[in-house]
Amino acid sequence: MSNNAATIEKTDVVLIGAGIMSATLGALLRQVQPDWSISVFERLDAAAAESSDPWNNAGTGHSALCELNYTPRAADGSVEIAKAIDINERFQVSRQFWSYSVENNVLANPSNFINPIPHVSFTHGADGVEYLRKRHEALSRHPLFEGMEYIADKDEFSRRLPLMAKGRDFSDPVALNWTDYGTDIDFGELTKELLAYLGRSGGDIAFGHEVKNLTKQSDGSWLVKVRNLRTGKSRVINAKFVFVGAGGGALPLLQKSGIKEIAGFGGFPVSGLFLRCKNPELIARHEAKVYGQASVGAPPMSVPHLDTRVINGERGLLFGPYAGWTPKFLKDGKNTDLFKSVRPNNLFSMLGVGVTEMSLVQYLVSELLKSQSGRVEVMEEFLPRAEGKDWDLIIAGQRVQVIRRKGAGGVLELGTAVVAAEDGTIAGLLGASPGASTCVSAMLDVMKRCFPSEFASWEPKLKEMVPSLGVKLSENKALFNEVWDWSQKALHLDAANTPEHSGVASHA
Ligand SMILES: Cc1cc2nc3c(=O)[nH]c(=O)nc-3n(C[C@H](O)[C@H](O)[C@H](O)COP(=O)(O)OP(=O)(O)OC[C@H]3O[C@@H](n4cnc5c(N)ncnc54)[C@H](O)[C@@H]3O)c2cc1C
Repeated sequence: MSNNAATIEKTDVVLIGAGIMSATLGALLRQVQPDWSISVFERLDAAAAESSDPWNNAGTGHSALCELNYTPRAADGSVEIAKAIDINERFQVSRQFWSYSVENNVLANPSNFINPIPHVSFTHGADGVEYLRKRHEALSRHPLFEGMEYIADKDEFSRRLPLMAKGRDFSDPVALNWTDYGTDIDFGELTKELLAYLGRSGGDIAFGHEVKNLTKQSDGSWLVKVRNLRTGKSRVINAKFVFVGAGGGALPLLQKSGIKEIAGFGGFPVSGLFLRCKNPELIARHEAKVYGQASVGAPPMSVPHLDTRVINGERGLLFGPYAGWTPKFLKDGKNTDLFKSVRPNNLFSMLGVGVTEMSLVQYLVSELLKSQSGRVEVMEEFLPRAEGKDWDLIIAGQRVQVIRRKGAGGVLELGTAVVAAEDGTIAGLLGASPGASTCVSAMLDVMKRCFPSEFASWEPKLKEMVPSLGVKLSENKALFNEVWDWSQKALHLDAANTPEHSGVASHA
């Protein structure tokens, strides 16, 4: 198809991918700029079918209450909490936007997508116990983490985590950092509801449409070439702004756009596997998201956790993740994805990582060699009486870890990176962690960087949606208390709404 004027459709904004990131950006933009036309293109036939699907991620509302990789040990033995504060602050931004959205009919019943579940850190052995004692000491006096408990008593451990206590040898000391107000989130449902809002407020959402190419025009706009995968026909859309919310597919598309900001970036795919419990009795006896410590040499995203899930109103339980490996950048991707992403401008970054990340490679190889009984053995650290028959192996989403140029080589990063062109006409999100929980702050960042002149005029509306915008809640306790109370109520997260009390069914 030629790109002649007659066949070119025009829109203000193209969002590539129907995952939580595009859905969030679409919902934000719709409210600050209702007159803009917005088109979403998704290659699959449904929203949130890649990483944002509830069983493709762990659904943890990451706020550093339980994830030990955000509270590393300092050289002097103390516990550093700066990263934890940052993640928690960003999660508060998401909570506020979701609360506003519930109160303003953007989102429906909050229990469809967010539910209260205790967040718990778990260690054992004298060293691990001491670490959690110090972590509790450092965090519990901080306003964002008030109420966190330290538990090292085996009877209390057994009362709170009966499944983890069964058959445990308590001569190996255990400790917990326990916070009642953690959350489980169904990011798939959240994505669908945000996109439904975008659709009913005039957005155009095309499923089964794959974006093939992006070409910059002399006026700064973009020609977006899209293929309808059902009919094989192509469409060309002229957009003033493009957001590449394609998850693992973002790197190749940003490379195709040719923007200089993507030079040097590469991606390293790691797939995740979970064990999903199919025994209703076990599911009913555990109610917490319990995060342990990564084993030596393993990357932070491999931290094992035993997770209560609430999906479609039903309780579930998963353990993992175990790492898998394929060269695909999406779960539904191609085996050529990794190879095709290697460019002259990122070759040295990628080779550099190949040399420096030998421990990751060794870890992946050991994970790939694990059998079902090997996986159950790993789970025994959490569930000493685990039995393989109670668990099914499921394949989770694909993560593409960011490789960034550093010196003559490259570094592997475990976070997310917003890559935006200098002129603000295109932006995309790379990486997977802390991921969906911080989608609102990530998308506000995109808006600020790409629309500097509009952003000031958007601020009053944005502050209605996120009252703490521009303020550090960790330094403003009164505002934190205010937005916390508001979001607890708006999102139905107070005690009366825990799954136990709200009659959520317990299912395999
Ligand atoms: C194992 C695992 C566990 C995780 N656990 C958590 C957790 O507990 N808490 C948390 O907050 N986060 C977690 N995450 C991260 C979180 O899932 C992701 O950060 C988030 O879902 C990414 O959303 P996204 O919209 O960027 O991408 P996705 O949800 O992957 O959506 C991208 C969409 O783009 C589409 N697409 C790709 N290429 C094209 C193209 N060319 N044209 C059209 N469409 C295209 C894809 O089909 C897909 O639907 C986890 C991730 C994994 C893999």
